[in-house]
Amino acid sequence: MTVLVVATGNPGKVRELQAVLADLDWELRAKPAELEVEETGDTFVANACLKASEVARATGEWAIADDSGLEVMALNGAPGVYSARYGSSDPERIQRLLTELGDRPNRAARFVCVIAVARPDGTIALQTEGVCSGEILNTPQGSGGFGFDPVFYVPEHQQTFAEMPLELKQSISHRGKALQSLIPQLAAISK
Ligand code: IMP
Repeated sequence: MTVLVVATGNPGKVRELQAVLADLDWELRAKPAELEVEETGDTFVANACLKASEVARATGEWAIADDSGLEVMALNGAPGVYSARYGSSDPERIQRLLTELGDRPNRAARFVCVIAVARPDGTIALQTEGVCSGEILNTPQGSGGFGFDPVFYVPEHQQTFAEMPLELKQSISHRGKALQSLIPQLAAISK
C-alpha cells in the first residue's frame, strides 16, 4: 500500500477521507502536527496545491489536501478563500455575512471545494473540484453541520445544509462531489 499523508489538522476530514477511500490501495496518514502550511494562495486551487505539495515534500510521501469556502455572488465571490478567516467563530462569520449582504435581493451563493494530490517530489498528480449552489437566507435555520450551514439554503431540497441529514449533505455537497470524482482518479494512480 502506498502512504498518502492527509494535509490537514482536522481529524474529521481524515475520518471522512478514510470512509470514502476505504476500498482503495492507499494507507492514509495524518500529517505531523508540527507541519503547518500557510494558505497564501488567492484561489482554492492554489491553496489546495500549495498544501499538498509542501506536505509531500516535507514528508517524502504522497499527500492530499483540500481547500473550500463560500462564494456569494452579490459580494463578488466573497468570502471565498477567506471563508475561514471571515470572523473568529461560526456565529461571527454568519453575522458578518448577513450584515454585508443586507437586504440585497440577489442571495445566490455556492460552496466550492478543491482537492489536490501531490507526488512525493511535490509535483501535482491530480486535482478535483466540487460545487454546490444555493441561496443565503436572512436568518439561520437548523442546528446541524458547521460553518455557514444554517444560512445556506438548497432550493432543490427546500432545506439548509444545517437541516439536512448528514448523508444527504455529503451526497450533494461541494466536498462530497469533489471526493466522488477523486475516487476513480486515485484508484487509477495506485494500480
Ligand atoms: P477550509 O477548507 O478547512 O479552509 O475551510 C473553509 C471555510 O469555509 C470553513 O471554515 C467554513 O467557514 C467554510 N466552509 C467550507 N465548507 C463548508 C461547509 O460544508 N459548510 C459550511 N461552511 C463551510
